[in-house]
Amino acid sequence: SNPADDLLPTPHTSVAVGEPLVVLTDVDKYFGDLHVLKNINLTVGRGEVVVVIGPSGSGKSTLCRSINRLETIQSGGIMIDGSPLPSEGKALARLRADVGMVFQQFNLFAHKTILENVTLGPVRVRRKSKQEARAHGMELLNRVGVGNQAEKYPAQLSGGQQQRVAIARALAMDPKVILFDEPTSALDPEMINEVLDVMIQLAQQGMTMIVVTHEMGFARTAADRVVFMADGEILEEAAPEAFFTSPTTARAKDFLSKIL
Ligand code: ADP
Ligand code: MG
Repeated sequence: SNPADDLLPTPHTSVAVGEPLVVLTDVDKYFGDLHVLKNINLTVGRGEVVVVIGPSGSGKSTLCRSINRLETIQSGGIMIDGSPLPSEGKALARLRADVGMVFQQFNLFAHKTILENVTLGPVRVRRKSKQEARAHGMELLNRVGVGNQAEKYPAQLSGGQQQRVAIARALAMDPKVILFDEPTSALDPEMINEVLDVMIQLAQQGMTMIVVTHEMGFARTAADRVVFMADGEILEEAAPEAFFTSPTTARAKDFLSKIL
């Protein structure tokens, strides 16, 4: 059965996109002399699902990492829910809790159990009691279909299970938005759908998501908007169907011809 089947307490409803939640204004990022993000302007509304695609090296990961302040931008502004990104201290820890991140390589704590992986953040950053964090953590692990793995360690789980734990860990912080950076790229093919299904359910429940992925099926099913990046720039933004059927730039046409 589908591990995500019980994610939803009620039948799906399409979620209206709300007010701006993530706003990037004229963002520039350099690594030394390398101009990696070039005047990026992007607004993601509450409840919106934005898929970011583009060739390797175009700045997609740097974009995600900048929104979570794992990277520092050189100019421009990034606002989350009306506040600029904090640069350090407790405010930064809270920002990281508000802006969840799911990485290609899962990045679970190898020496913590699955349940500990999803309860550490809520206890340390959200100041939940251990009991409350465990109860909520178990609920989330059950929702993503790995409740029966709670006492195991990450290496004992399949890649698809680990990535679903990583999603549960992000959800445990009650984030305002979750960034996914190629969450299925490191998975064996047969595990890709079990992760995408969980992500589709989240999208349908109204989670705000920025998803770097080349999974066009996910984009078609779940995205409100596709953003195409190349060489550090946003070259196109469109609804998925419009983008896939009639990309306007040569770069996007070329990219799609290679992946579709
Ligand atoms: P993408 O995720 O689209 O493949 P990245 O954001 O990873 O692109 O990389 C964009 C560009 O920045 C690439 O040219 C990459 O080599 C470079 N880059 C990424 N991280 C670093 C870093 N820490 N130091 C120097 N250059 C980097
Ligand atoms: Mg990347």
